[in-house]
Amino acid sequence: MTTRETFDGVLILGAGLAGLTAALAAAPRKVLLLSPTPLGEGCSSAWAQGGMAAALAEDDSPVLHAQDTIAAGAGLCDPQAVAVLTREGPDAVRALADLGAPFDRTPDGGFSQGLEAAHGRARIAKVGGDGAGRAIHNAVIAAVLAAPHIEVRTGLRARSLLQDAAGRVRGALVEAGAGALTEIVAAATLLATGGLGGLYAVTTTPREVRGEGLGLAALAGAVIADPEFVQFHPTALDVGADPAPLATEALRGEGAILRNADGRAFMKSYHPDAELAPRDVVARAIQSELAAGHGAFLDATAAIGQAFPHEFPAVFAAAQAAGLDPRVQPMPVAPACHYHMGGVATDLNGATSLPGLLAAGECASTGVHGANRLASNSLLEAAVFGARAGAQLRTAI
Ligand SMILES: Cc1cc2nc3c(=O)[nH]c(=O)nc-3n(C[C@H](O)[C@H](O)[C@H](O)COP(=O)(O)OP(=O)(O)OC[C@H]3O[C@@H](n4cnc5c(N)ncnc54)[C@H](O)[C@@H]3O)c2cc1C
Repeated sequence: MTTRETFDGVLILGAGLAGLTAALAAAPRKVLLLSPTPLGEGCSSAWAQGGMAAALAEDDSPVLHAQDTIAAGAGLCDPQAVAVLTREGPDAVRALADLGAPFDRTPDGGFSQGLEAAHGRARIAKVGGDGAGRAIHNAVIAAVLAAPHIEVRTGLRARSLLQDAAGRVRGALVEAGAGALTEIVAAATLLATGGLGGLYAVTTTPREVRGEGLGLAALAGAVIADPEFVQFHPTALDVGADPAPLATEALRGEGAILRNADGRAFMKSYHPDAELAPRDVVARAIQSELAAGHGAFLDATAAIGQAFPHEFPAVFAAAQAAGLDPRVQPMPVAPACHYHMGGVATDLNGATSLPGLLAAGECASTGVHGANRLASNSLLEAAVFGARAGAQLRTAI
């Protein structure tokens, strides 16, 4: 039997960084936030390693960040969306710090920023080396749980969108773990359901993230943009696990080298920027080497060596669990599905082509990433466009 409930406010589907940020930004509007899993589980946001890209340093600027974003996106980015992301990025990072996200700091109190592939500046705000996602997410969860306007319900997964005769989205049909179905009617609905890695044979994302929001929106008739643009992270640890543990891009930013089984460094023969070439270039190079039977290994023994456990504790733990010691041996790597650039088409405030339906974060497509997302632009996207969508929810009728 399907029950029906009318919620006196707006509905947010998904509790990653985009959904949580939107919920906070919608205040004082009443928000019902649904998550299939307990908060902090089943979302890519908590698994992020490298950090958030933002032009916070004196030698950097939103314009330089935008240029790198557009170059990585193969010229297919929407320049307006990129301008919003890069201009609002520094304040988004500061807002998360104000919520308690413990970003690494310089001795004078500034943000300690690292370099990642295809960035012309060291602009990645990090936490504890490779623990950005979990630390940021925990801070935002605490703020959400303390916010009187937000009601969180876990164990609920959206199965379809409710529409009236005019096609306006009026809420969602949700399923509890035991299979009980409830129609939740709300003034507006925000999809923040993340990417689609769980659909692929090997992914770096949690299994729970499998493109369901995208599917629900498509079935309801929403315009979908660039669904074919799927990013494969070049350096997942190739240890037979799925999800595959990630070896963050920041390792190459710190000087780790990609080598064949015979020790030859191969990236220079693919791109002048070698290990710091854009993700798609590095992923294709590794795939070519693997297909040719040469093997592919990430060698951090010289660049990071004994500092590995301290500088990259999450990657170190994953490597150790697979019986590898990255301080003294190269790690086998292979590309794995990582991120979806395409998604539900939105404007810069999260509006989709369907009235009553908004989308933000990885399930949305503002056009900000073009054909290939620049490293560490995704947490930023979730924070910037999540806040913009939340502001729209405030006044949605
Ligand atoms: C291992 C890893 C490392 C990464 N490192 C970085 C990094 O360093 N920097 C960076 O910028 N990006 C990084 N990314 C990408 C980034 O983490 C994600 O793109 C971003 O966090 C997406 O946020 P989101 O809120 O849109 O989605 P998510 O955080 O994935 O949240 C989606 C939410 O929707 C829920 N959901 C799914 N289906 C349904 C449904 N049917 N009904 C209701 N809820 C549903 C999920 O359970 C989850 O709560 C990384 C990703 C991975 C996997």
